[in-house]
Formats: sequence, C-alpha cells, structure tokens
Amino acid sequence: MKTKIKSLKNLPDKDGYYGKFGGSFVPDQLIKPLKEIEQEYLKAKDNVEFQKEYLNLLKDYVGRPSPLYFAKNLTEKLGGAKIYLKREDLNHTGAHKINHCIGEALLAKRMGKKKVLAETGAGQHGVALATAAALLGLECEIHMGSIDIEKERPNVIRMKLLGAKVVEVNTGGKCLKDAVDSAFGVFMKEYKTTFFAIGSVVGPHPYPMIVRDFQSIVGREAKEQILKKERKLPDYVIGCVGGGSNAMGLFHEFLDDKVKLIGVEPSGIGSKIGEHAATISYGTNGVIHGMKTLVLQNNKGEPNSVHSVASGLDYPGVGPIHAYVKDIGRAEYVTASDDEAIKAFLELSRVEGIIPALESAHAMAYVMKLATTLDKNKIIIVNLSGRGDKDIEYVSKLLKI
Ligand SMILES: *Cc1c(COP(=O)(O)O)cnc(C)c1O
Repeated sequence: MKTKIKSLKNLPDKDGYYGKFGGSFVPDQLIKPLKEIEQEYLKAKDNVEFQKEYLNLLKDYVGRPSPLYFAKNLTEKLGGAKIYLKREDLNHTGAHKINHCIGEALLAKRMGKKKVLAETGAGQHGVALATAAALLGLECEIHMGSIDIEKERPNVIRMKLLGAKVVEVNTGGKCLKDAVDSAFGVFMKEYKTTFFAIGSVVGPHPYPMIVRDFQSIVGREAKEQILKKERKLPDYVIGCVGGGSNAMGLFHEFLDDKVKLIGVEPSGIGSKIGEHAATISYGTNGVIHGMKTLVLQNNKGEPNSVHSVASGLDYPGVGPIHAYVKDIGRAEYVTASDDEAIKAFLELSRVEGIIPALESAHAMAYVMKLATTLDKNKIIIVNLSGRGDKDIEYVSKLLKI
C-alpha cells in the first residue's frame, strides 16, 4: 500500500479544519443539510461521469483552458522578471467565478435540488450563478443589498435577463454582509429543495473545500502551460484576495512546490478601520459566516466596515485556508491601495491592450513593483481574475475621461 504523503493539498481535516481555521459554526438545523452536501460532494468528486460533465462544460461553455499569456510588452518595459498572465478574464462571463458556479450548480442538480440560492455584493457572483442556473435549468434566487442594487445596475439587469429572481435586502447596512444573512435565512427554511451556492472559498465546511476544488483547475492548467513554455516552474505565483477563491485556485496546484505564493489584499485608502479590506494584514482570529478565520472586527466580534475600490475584494473575512497558509508561512500576503490598483488598471490597458477588473488590478499593481526588483530569468504567474468592462464607468468618472 502506498503511504499518503503529507500534503497541504489534502486539507481540510475531516471536520473541515485547516490548522486552527475553518470548521462549521452554524445553527443546529443546518448541521445535517451541510453534512449531506459534504457527502454528496465527496461522492461527486470521485464520480467519473460528474467530473466529465464538469470538465466538458468548462471546455465548451466557459472556454477553458484559459491562455497563459506572456506579457512581453510589460515585461520589457519593467526590465525585470518575466510576467505571465493567467487569462481568467477570457472566460464566459468575464471572470473566474463561473468555474465554481458551474460546479456548484451541477452538484445542486445531482442532489435533486430545484433552486440555487446565493448572496452577491457587486453582482459578479450573482451573474455567474444565474448563468450556470440558466444553463442547467435550475431556478436561481440572488439576495443583494439595496445600496448595491442601486450601484450595480448592469449586473442586476444581467441577472434578471438570465432568469434569476433578485431579492432586495433592506436590513442593516444594505450591503454584502446583510445579503449573506438574508440568503442564509432563506436557506434555513428551504434547504430541502434549495442549494446554497457560496461565492468564494468561505463559509462553513464543506464550502471552502468545494469552491477550492472547483477553482483548482486554474492552477493545474497554469502549471502544465508554464512547464510547456519555460520547461520549469515559476518562481512566484500571485493573485488578489477578497474571499480568496481566485488566488487559491491558482495556488493549490503549487502548494507542495518550491514556488513563492503571494496574495494581494486591498489596502484601500488607509490603515484605519473602514478604510481598507486587508483582512489577513490587519485581522484577528474570529468567526464570520460560519467559519473560524481572520476577521476585521471590533472587540465585540462584530465585523468592521470595509472599503476597497474593487467591490469584489470588499469583505471583512477571508477563506480559512488563506489564514492557515499565512499562519504556517507557506504564503505571504501584501497589499495594494486603491490608487495603486487604478494605476495598474491603466498601465495594463495601455501597455498590453488588456483592461483588467479592478480586483485583478491589485495583483497587477504588486506584480509591477515586484518584477522590477527581480532578475530577468525569474518567472511570475499572476491570476488575471477578471476583465474590467464592469469598472469602466467608475474609472472614467474618477479620471474624468
Ligand atoms: C469576485 C472577484 C474577486 C474576488 O473574489 P476571490 O474569491 O477573492 O477570488 C476577484 N476578481 C474578480 C474579477 C472577481 O469578480
């Protein structure tokens, strides 16, 4: 018998823990439904038909594999390390989220559920899930704060066009956190017929594991692509971190390799409460949305208000696996500010002809700084998690163009 080599890829443990982070902190009536999701998922994971259907949809519907593009212009301009972009922006719907939404919708269908349910902040997860639901013939219900609905009109329209029901949430701060609470409330009542489809590597076990697994295709492709192009592993693998799904999707395959992993968090406009959303950099141990992790919180354990120019990064928690790999020193976490992200947004647009999502622009901002400090034989892979179409209105107003 082969002995199991201890690998970070085998996490979490059977109770859903990554070191001291993770687990499942939910009301009693959700313990059984979550256990069922875990059991069904573990079966699906080993089921050849399920995996075949998932990978086929990623190929023909999403357009995978996404290219690993050598950013020659940018590399030459900076004069340092070689920069490769993993082009998740080229996926159908324009970002990485579709990877896990298709997986979650397939799982919902396999479990005989009629409906997928989720929260959304800026509407990116809502649109990706509504897309997957339309594709697979499931109902879709998305909870969204009324302030976000006002701010993100185009995504609200997209979700409606895709056949989703958008539920306006008017409680609390009327933003993402309140939308999560509201959607969770519905799930508690409807779990027999409804699948809660979370938007990142967050929430109670088994969600962080499920979303990580569905996103890990990104890193598997990237490894194969870089070995083909460069005949060696990259020196650095980098992604922006909100909840952490695009970064972990890219990191996962490299966890056991001699490769530096760097997550870039949004430092917004400053280091005071409410000015940033850099959870790993400034957070403390706590519980949020059913998981033990790092949290930006006050001394009563209530989440702080957060800010980032990129609404997809605007979250006071982070996936437990990120809290863990930071804790053991396997990954490093740095920050990029609103201004740095906007500068990188413009630079990538002009130098490479690629308009990145403001979220991805945070990772780009750090990469641009790092590359200049490295030798030309070093290799960086950065996850270009999404495209910037959704952000052009905002940026044009800001820059008065
Ligand atoms: C939602 C989103 C993110 C942040 O989510 P993660 O779970 O941290 O990946 C990053 N980039 C884009 C384009 C997004 O839409």
